Amino acid sequence: MTPPVLDVRDLTKVYGEGEATVHALAGVSLSVQRGDYVAIMGSSGSGKSTLMNILGALDVPSSGTYLLDGVDVSRLADRQLALARNRLIGFIFQAFNLIPRTTALANVELPLAYAGVKPRERRRRALAALDVVGLADRAGHEPNQLSGGQQQRVAVARALVTEPALLLADEPTGNLDSRSTDDVLGVLDQLSTAGRTIVLITHESEVGDRAKRLIRLVDGRIVTDVRQSALHEPPVGAQLR
Ligand code: ADP
Ligand code: MG
Repeated sequence: MTPPVLDVRDLTKVYGEGEATVHALAGVSLSVQRGDYVAIMGSSGSGKSTLMNILGALDVPSSGTYLLDGVDVSRLADRQLALARNRLIGFIFQAFNLIPRTTALANVELPLAYAGVKPRERRRRALAALDVVGLADRAGHEPNQLSGGQQQRVAVARALVTEPALLLADEPTGNLDSRSTDDVLGVLDQLSTAGRTIVLITHESEVGDRAKRLIRLVDGRIVTDVRQSALHEPPVGAQLR
């Protein structure tokens, strides 16, 4: 049996000490199976970024265990951790983080270059990833020649080009207008349907509503964790003709 993509138990994160101690995470347990699409919501200060940084293996918890695709990342040394991160996780950030004055194609090729993939194969896979997000015809465009929504779709292509076990997105629509938000959410829906595993954090309920599963954080704890699949099905009695 394949292990869950994410399996975290009793995660805590404590910042500061004495009077200034902050329990940013106060015991979070969460398991995400392959193919799930999870939105994490919570008000400012609830611990979302702290949790994302730990899930993304960018930070370590104060206590608790964290398995990423069955690997106990808390036991890895820095270099191994960086390798696991590059191999297992595709990141999507609020601010896109594309390299300026560099074509969409070269931006998407970059993680493959780091992974040592040969130029021809890099190009083929980057073009295929741009095609998945509907931007094959913009491969030669630089970021400033693309709309915000298109830039974020390039960033999605860059995140998925390495075939990671997990797509991890931090407020992916936070900088987008409603039309671009729809475009990016459409791409995420399509990736989810194709079997990708997605975890995103968001402030926006229309973004959270699109996920298959919605988790709410309050004061560093999970207060609800619900399946939303029923919301996406047509009402009982409704028939598609
Ligand atoms: P969110 O992303 O939901 O707004 P954060 O995870 O950024 O929440 O923060 C959770 C809590 O931890 C907040 O009270 C915040 O002030 C505190 N915090 C976050 N990062 C640090 C840090 N580096 N040092 C001290 N406190 C921090
Ligand atoms: Mg935050």
